[in-house]
This record gives sequence, C-alpha cells and structure tokens, in this order.
Amino acid sequence: MTRQYKNIVILTGAGISAESGLSTFRSEDGLWNKHRVEDVATIEAFIRNPDYVHEFYNEMRPELFAAQPNAAHKAITTLQEKYPAQISVVTQNVDTLHEKAGNKNVYHIHGQINQMVCLNCGHVFESWGAFSSEDTCEKCGVTAMLKPNIVFFGEDLLCMNDVDRLLRSCDLFLSVGTSGVVYPAAGFVQIAKMFGADTYEFNMEKTSNNMMFDAHIYGPAGTTLPTFVDKLTAEVKQ
Ligand SMILES: [Zn+2]
Repeated sequence: MTRQYKNIVILTGAGISAESGLSTFRSEDGLWNKHRVEDVATIEAFIRNPDYVHEFYNEMRPELFAAQPNAAHKAITTLQEKYPAQISVVTQNVDTLHEKAGNKNVYHIHGQINQMVCLNCGHVFESWGAFSSEDTCEKCGVTAMLKPNIVFFGEDLLCMNDVDRLLRSCDLFLSVGTSGVVYPAAGFVQIAKMFGADTYEFNMEKTSNNMMFDAHIYGPAGTTLPTFVDKLTAEVKQ
C-alpha cells in the first residue's frame, strides 16, 4: 500500500451491520423470516395492502433506531478524519449505523429506514415514527401515498448517478460485508477496477471467486477494517 489515494469508495453490505447485532436479510431468526418478501418489499404488495407493509417497517424501525455502530463503522470515521482523500460510503444497508458512527458522504442505494417518500410528489423526509395509509404528505397534502423510502424489488436503486461517478474516479475500492453476488452492487468492483482502482474485499469467509479483487481479507470487519485503516493512516504520517 504505497500509493497515496485521492478517492476512496467503501461499499458496505449486511455483514457490517450483523456485527452490530442486526440480523441479515432472510436470516433464520430475523423479522424477514416471518414475512414473505413479495408481501412486504414489492410495489404490488404496497398497492394491494399498504398497511401490512407499513406495519412491517414500523416493527423494524425501533430495532434499527436502537442499534449501535461497531468498530468497522468507527474505522471508516477514523479514515475520513485522518486520511487526506475524498472518502465515500456506498451502502446497501437501510440502517443508519454509518451516520451514527459519524461517517460522512454516505449513499444509501437501497434507501434508509428513517425516511419516507411521497409517491405523489417525490418529497423525502426523515422520521423514526410509525406510519399508516392514513398519513398525509406534508408537502403536497395528498393522503395514502407515503411509502417507506426503501427500494423494493423491481425498483431502481437510489443515488446511482453519484455512485457511478464515484466508482469511475476512485483509486481505492473496499467492499465490506457484502456477498458480492447481487447485482448491480456486485459489479461495482468491476467498474472501479476498470478505471484503475486497487480493490480489497473484507468478508467473514470466501464468498465468491470474484477475481476483480486484488486482495481478500477474511474475518470480522470490526477487526479487519480497523487494522487496514491503521496501516493506511500510518503511511500518511511517513
Ligand atoms: Zn407529496
């Protein structure tokens, strides 16, 4: 690691939140396991039975509100404070652990649990409260059009213009706690690599044979990422 990086992109997935006690998508004991995806995470389900969908996210919100960031999230804050580069976080997670840890430049491509979006006017606002189909948009005044600002299956990911720009200009790409099998996020490393970035994957175990990564670092991100950040920042001081 002798390069001095100017633009760093850190892609994060469910694995980094799991270390904060948040159950991963479709894990055995998670909230997701009690519901079918097609009942709570599709636009069709939301149109058919909005209150069922609202209740699902209403139930999820307090758990994510209470969750605390771990050493991996904090290592990103340290990197952003000590390393002289533009450092962006692109997360697939809908929790706000990155923000709680003090991370800046966070892009939630799957949306975030503490936001609602009005399907009538596009207004997005933050709230940790509970919602129902009887709520009214504070901007356009239309009722029954507020949807959790979570990307449902079949919907476009958010912030993708920004993310594409970041991937094309980054010289260091880190993938943390993501399986690397779900596109388009799985293809981010390919774009970064094509544009010349060094690429590192942090995961609990080998998850794919993705040869786009220059290095795979195995173990809990709460341990491996702080070590990596220490090395990077030590090189700045020299
Ligand atoms: Zn509205």
